Amino acid sequence: MFWALFVLGHDCGHGSFSNYGWLNSLVGHFLHSLILVPYHGWRISHKRHHNNHGHVDNDESWHPLTEKTYKALDYVTWKMRFTVPFPLFAYPVYLLFRSPGKKGSHFHPDSDLFLPHEKGDVTVSTICWMAMLALLLVCSHIAGPMSVFKIYGVPYAIFIMWLDAVTYLHHHGHHEKLPWYRGKEWNYLRGALTTVDRDYGWINKIHHNIETHVIHHLFPQIPHYNLVEATKAAKPVLGKYYREPEKSGPLPFHLLGILARSLRVDHFVSDAGDVVYYQTDPQLNGDARAKSE
Ligand SMILES: [Zn+2]
Repeated sequence: MFWALFVLGHDCGHGSFSNYGWLNSLVGHFLHSLILVPYHGWRISHKRHHNNHGHVDNDESWHPLTEKTYKALDYVTWKMRFTVPFPLFAYPVYLLFRSPGKKGSHFHPDSDLFLPHEKGDVTVSTICWMAMLALLLVCSHIAGPMSVFKIYGVPYAIFIMWLDAVTYLHHHGHHEKLPWYRGKEWNYLRGALTTVDRDYGWINKIHHNIETHVIHHLFPQIPHYNLVEATKAAKPVLGKYYREPEKSGPLPFHLLGILARSLRVDHFVSDAGDVVYYQTDPQLNGDARAKSE
């Protein structure tokens, strides 16, 4: 259910839920506040992600760290970003502090993420988020914290883990090496084609078509319920530029291996160059890293 609320709110953020901006905003706030996402703060940074997908420096979510930023990470941040299961809990941390090497917060109207005219919207969403948090506190006062933990906390944790895994897998390869761009080499189409569709097996049925990520990046204005049909139509046009997802069994166990491997070997990209690929830290051992600090 948390996932459904997120996907519908995501449509609102892209303006594909309704032709009326006010209705997208109203429904988006209702849906995303329920799952503790600050609607406008997220919507604006998500738009930045779409407008800069595949760009090393300007992309907003799950973009690679440059070698310089990677080497400057403290041990705790390194562990959180690259060691399973910690990256699967990244989403609330990302909302609060963005990614390593970037400043600001999705909750703060004065954050680098936002333009002056967006501050009012961001403040409204942060207030809605706080109202939801207050509601949870009231519920735990009435029903007891354990009940709120079981009814809300556990699904929230599962939702966060799933969201982090899915969004990571859509922007990281496995067999295929995905390029990241800078400067003149980047354009919208090339950036969109660095995204990857995935097969989640049986989960596709309750997933609201999020597995079709390439078409979503090419045309973010398509609502979620038309993405499968749009992907079918786009495949012959994209030809060899479309990466067919690896077929899943009933449950997508193959994706666990892809996720774990990518986190193990995809560490940083070069500080220079306009077409770059992930590289692996030769000093892979985290303990060696801790000792050297
Ligand atoms: Zn999107």
